[in-house]
Amino acid sequence: MVKRNFFSAFILGCLIIGYCSSTFASHDTAHILKGQFRQGASSLTYWLDSSVNSYGMQSHFQHAFTNWNNSSSKVNMSASTNASSDIKVYVGSNNLPVGYAGLTEMYYLNIFGTAVLISPNNVINGTLFDRVTIRIDDTQRIALGYTGWDKVVKLTGHEIGHALSMHHFENNPAHSNQNSWMYSGSQTNSAYPSSDDVSHLRYKWGN
Ligand SMILES: [Zn+2]
Ligand SMILES: [Zn+2]
Repeated sequence: MVKRNFFSAFILGCLIIGYCSSTFASHDTAHILKGQFRQGASSLTYWLDSSVNSYGMQSHFQHAFTNWNNSSSKVNMSASTNASSDIKVYVGSNNLPVGYAGLTEMYYLNIFGTAVLISPNNVINGTLFDRVTIRIDDTQRIALGYTGWDKVVKLTGHEIGHALSMHHFENNPAHSNQNSWMYSGSQTNSAYPSSDDVSHLRYKWGN
């Protein structure tokens, strides 16, 4: 049931160390990243690499972007043909570490305008970011059970949710509804954001 990725790998590390679970005491700290887009979320642009269409995932991503947009009037991500967009999306095959169906990474722009990767821990703890890259591994997507419209949408919606500073809803205190996009794993179908997804997005960005 585990869809491991960038953030779940970090949480797994926490559990093994037995150190950070006590810091995840409430929903806002457990399920929402303190780091966020420096510019806010009201006028973000996204760009789909041609590989997204090659792997047949363009409609899944567009559906997921649209339904996150529809969840808060304060969140808007619009399609762009500019490769320097705020959110860039790629799909490949065996392009991610073993066990990863999707990976979302945050970057800041240094004084030279170069994108510098930010560690997951720093994003969780509040480092602002300027760019996000989402990558899907089509081979591992299938191996991990993200097949069919609903589950591929769930995977795409999950990764976009990270770009909007959503964290994992299975983090303690976990939500009981596993249908949320932000509840990791392919065990349930989730064609649309759940009420938990919407409430957390609005908590972060407003209604
Ligand atoms: Zn995740
Ligand atoms: Zn919560």
